Amino acid sequence: MEEPSYVKRVKETEIFKGCKNIVVGKGNLNADILFVGEAPGRKEDEEGFPFVGAAGKNLDKLLEKIGLTLEDVYIANILKCRPPENRDPLPEEIRAHTPWLIEQIKEIKPKVICSLGNYSTKFFVSGGDIDKMNLVPGITQLHGKKKVLDFHGLKIKLIPLFHPAAIIYNRGLLGLWEEDMEIVKKEINQATLI
Ligand code: URA
Repeated sequence: MEEPSYVKRVKETEIFKGCKNIVVGKGNLNADILFVGEAPGRKEDEEGFPFVGAAGKNLDKLLEKIGLTLEDVYIANILKCRPPENRDPLPEEIRAHTPWLIEQIKEIKPKVICSLGNYSTKFFVSGGDIDKMNLVPGITQLHGKKKVLDFHGLKIKLIPLFHPAAIIYNRGLLGLWEEDMEIVKKEINQATLI
């Protein structure tokens, strides 16, 4: 079978050549909540799964604290391959890697998407228009604020959250993360009633 075009596009990028694994995602494809991070790090690249390194351990703890497991969520990233030295994603990499993410969103049909950190949040809030991402305010301003977006023909409910790696370095963000997750949970419960 021929490879889908969104896979080909990832494989055409320079960072694909330098990575060990394409990191697609993990969790339950029928989940109500989709978490979208930035890009795989070293550990994720080695193991082939997102959020298995230090940030991932913190995400596991954060989810456990509010009674969620991998059965309740799906976790993916903006980029499917690790950028060298974990540098920031380049606009052309985001352009080439996100068609795969959009396919994942169409398959999972989550009730809520939680963008983790600045890159993921800016990607969604700009409506996937990479050239406009730098016009979007940062996560400090947008976290916990629900946005209903028209995104590639999909109606998306986005709730931006701080990146779990940021919470490791700034424990003061923990309380805000928990408050924001209450908003996520409320949103999911409401959506179930409709
Ligand atoms: N940070 C991310 O944004 N994604 C991962 O998969 C790991 C760390």
